[in-house]
Amino acid sequence: MLNTQPIRTWPGTIVLRCPPCSWGKCIFCGYTKDCIVESQLSGKDFLNQFRCYFERYGIPDHLEIYNSGSFLDDKQISPNSRIEIFRYLYEQGVWSVAIESRPEYIRRDNLTPLLTEYKGDLTVCIGLEVADDVVLRKLRKGFSLKDVEKAQSLLKSMGLLSRAYILTGAPFTQSAVHQAIESVQYAKRLGFDEISLLAAYPMEGTQGYELWRKGEWRLLDLKEFNNIVIAARQIMPGIDVSCFGLREFLKKSREPNIKRR
Ligand code: SF4
Repeated sequence: MLNTQPIRTWPGTIVLRCPPCSWGKCIFCGYTKDCIVESQLSGKDFLNQFRCYFERYGIPDHLEIYNSGSFLDDKQISPNSRIEIFRYLYEQGVWSVAIESRPEYIRRDNLTPLLTEYKGDLTVCIGLEVADDVVLRKLRKGFSLKDVEKAQSLLKSMGLLSRAYILTGAPFTQSAVHQAIESVQYAKRLGFDEISLLAAYPMEGTQGYELWRKGEWRLLDLKEFNNIVIAARQIMPGIDVSCFGLREFLKKSREPNIKRR
């Protein structure tokens, strides 16, 4: 029964229930806890999750599909289920979708079967985080800028849209403003169609949370984030931003029970 329900929905967005991200090692990431199923779900289960969304909100012009990892990871969503999902979305009249994926799964053999079923706009989103290989290694992202460049170049050659997520104020960031600006410039240079700037915050149960508790990760404050947004928008005016998680965390961290040791 649970397998047929998405984890969360809000207008324009569905968070699919599926097994966790195969990588699962990024030190700031608590999304793997979202995934409470261990084994593969069937295509039918996924279609039912989409039905839940449509019953609640109707057919959207554009749908953001999150699955706390990579839509193109076979261990999270099998190749056949992906095809069934894309066929279903097109039949339902969803003309534009965005999926997320680590760069290593962004391959022609993974994308071509989806494009055979789906003739709408497809945006593939990559969690670039920061344009610095040393920091990527410390964050345990498990990929390098070269991998991002290869994936982005494939998306372009296939005529697909792309979005880069950039994480500002992550652990091990020396100068958050400088690093965020460099990352936005890098993503723009690579030709990402969209950039989304997110403010990092400690998610409970992660190594990042422990770093924060030990005082080894200084968080951005909202004013600093705002300054980063202003500077980033001078490079790419349409940039999307979110500091919701950080704002909520800062509010909560004033409560005595989650103060640092
Ligand atoms: S690849 Fe994405 S979902 Fe997987 S651990 Fe890293 S941030 Fe989390």
